[in-house]
Amino acid sequence: MTWNDWKWQLQNRIVDLETLQDNIALTEEEKVSFQEASAFFSFSVTPYYLSLIDRNNPNCPIRKQTIPRPEELVWNPNEVEDPLAEQKFMPVKGVTHRYPDRALWYISHTCAVYCRFCTRKRKVSKPEETPNREEWEKALEYFRSHSEIREVILSGGDPLTLADSQLDYLLDQLNQIKHINHIRIHSRYPVTLPMRITPSLCEVLSKYFPLYLVSHFNHSSELTKEACSAIKMLIQKGNVIVLNQSVLLNGINDTVKDLEELNYKLIRSGVKPYYLHQCDEVVGSGGFVVPITKGLEIMFELRGRRSGISIPTYVKDLTGGGGKVTLNPNYLVSANETKLVMKNYNEDEFEISH
Ligand SMILES: *Cc1c(COP(=O)(O)O)cnc(C)c1O
Ligand code: SF4
Repeated sequence: MTWNDWKWQLQNRIVDLETLQDNIALTEEEKVSFQEASAFFSFSVTPYYLSLIDRNNPNCPIRKQTIPRPEELVWNPNEVEDPLAEQKFMPVKGVTHRYPDRALWYISHTCAVYCRFCTRKRKVSKPEETPNREEWEKALEYFRSHSEIREVILSGGDPLTLADSQLDYLLDQLNQIKHINHIRIHSRYPVTLPMRITPSLCEVLSKYFPLYLVSHFNHSSELTKEACSAIKMLIQKGNVIVLNQSVLLNGINDTVKDLEELNYKLIRSGVKPYYLHQCDEVVGSGGFVVPITKGLEIMFELRGRRSGISIPTYVKDLTGGGGKVTLNPNYLVSANETKLVMKNYNEDEFEISH
């Protein structure tokens, strides 16, 4: 039992250039980018997720999400380190409370794989950011004393990095707070480390029904046999309601066909597509961003032509901390004219026209 053991996968993550090159032939560009990029944002990939890379395809969607490319080293003027101003809305360390009724709680700063487009690359992977026991208690106290909070979202890093017993403790503490209506977990482990979903984890999770888990599949090739079994176990043994958020990514999933395949496969696996995110304007994201007009065109094609339950809501989290707004394809006037309704958008005024 090694490959199927999640701890083995974590312990054997590939984190340096030499080991990566032992596994996969890199291009010259990738080699140079690797060195420079990892000074700012760590590199890591599980043996499992690395094995999904199609070695003969330089445009493999998994390769592009995982291995640094030169675009990551370019910091465009619109890009910032903390695009959602999460640090500004942080009443206690590890908690972002922007929307009155729900709070995001970062309980881990480790991920199995570091996605090169990560919004939180400023802090994810940095050990000093990992919350300690005392900070947990402060966060819990904050939730107890703020009765407007109806939902806590466990996020990260990846919250499922914690041991089953730690998760059990935190879920139990949250569950005891009367004003909390439900708990949600945001995790990418069903994608990058599906072996993390074990019978004992599911036993813990099942105690907290209804527990919502939002996974993060971006491409249909990530829905492997292993990932689909993990999801099935979460649903059937963990009593978990599973949703998915994707990020719209240039050259990875930015066609009607890519998103249709992804979303149909999710539905087939028991997962409801929840959000399609416009990629955040985080430093080094230029190679990943898809123009909103193109995103709207894709959404327009999906609506009505594909099963409604397979269609996620296209959203943008406004740079500067304005919150999420829906990008509605009905407001697509033409490819050259982006006229969006952006309520709360302070910097520029958009109008609707027909
Ligand atoms: C995205 C986000 C949430 C969750 O928003 P939903 O629309 O409920 O999924 C909560 N808090 C913050 C700070 C967020 O950025
Ligand atoms: S799993 Fe989420 S937090 Fe972790 S690197 Fe990827 S996008 Fe960032």
